Amino acid sequence: MTGRLAIVGLGPGAPELLTPMAAEALGAATDLVGYAPYLARVPERPGQRRHASDNREELARARQALALAEAGKAVALVSSGDPGIFAMASAIFEAIEMGKPEWRGIEVTVVPGVSAMLAAAARAGAPLGHDFCVLSLSDNLKPWEIVLQRLEAAAGADLVIVLYNPASKARPWQLGEAFRAIARHRAGTTPVIFAHAVSQPDERIEIATLAESETCRADMRTLVIVGSSATRLLPRGAGAPFVYTPRHAEMVPS
Ligand code: SAH
Repeated sequence: MTGRLAIVGLGPGAPELLTPMAAEALGAATDLVGYAPYLARVPERPGQRRHASDNREELARARQALALAEAGKAVALVSSGDPGIFAMASAIFEAIEMGKPEWRGIEVTVVPGVSAMLAAAARAGAPLGHDFCVLSLSDNLKPWEIVLQRLEAAAGADLVIVLYNPASKARPWQLGEAFRAIARHRAGTTPVIFAHAVSQPDERIEIATLAESETCRADMRTLVIVGSSATRLLPRGAGAPFVYTPRHAEMVPS
């Protein structure tokens, strides 16, 4: 009998940000598949098997999950944040499209999660209160020229820009180049949020201006949000100011 596969978003880290629907899907699984640090966030349940994998092996992990489901297991494949955003859900559909015809008979469900940008935005205030766009800065799966082209277009359209995968040891210079591309369209005073390890014990939220933004402020566990021309700071009694984008927009002279 063919099993089933739930692709489950774990949220950004804090157990409180795991949805009840995700908790239910994890509890109903006979087999959990995922990147080891994400699996470590899921409470142990007797009788449930865990299949930990390397982070870079996304397609192999997708195929492993599908093979287990084909063999009759109830599989939960875990992703951080939302599984549909730069994560495993697309890898599963790619694997099904290229894979065995039998895989099309597997009952697949995608269980949404709180994406890092939602948790990061909430911590900072409301930077995503008006039109925005989301890009992954990783050039593992697309050429850097496409990243730059999209950044230029988004910056030219005065959208708030959310950057996932901003930097890593293997990609040390891309974020600096991205800031320079955006700065061709936007004032140096534009607020930039560096949200590191949101909702995790070592969370750190930094607010800078575009002019002072540097790659060294970000790593693999950081999400970067660059404001539009309307995004502003609102000082509060104690602590860092709120960063928010008003609900209305004006034409910006080009
Ligand atoms: N599916 C995930 C994103 C995976 S891509 C989601 O919806 O959140 C991995 C990137 O997500 C990281 O490089 C980082 O930019 C961001 N990210 C994931 N969790 C984060 C967290 N807790 N705090 C800050 N950024 C995070």
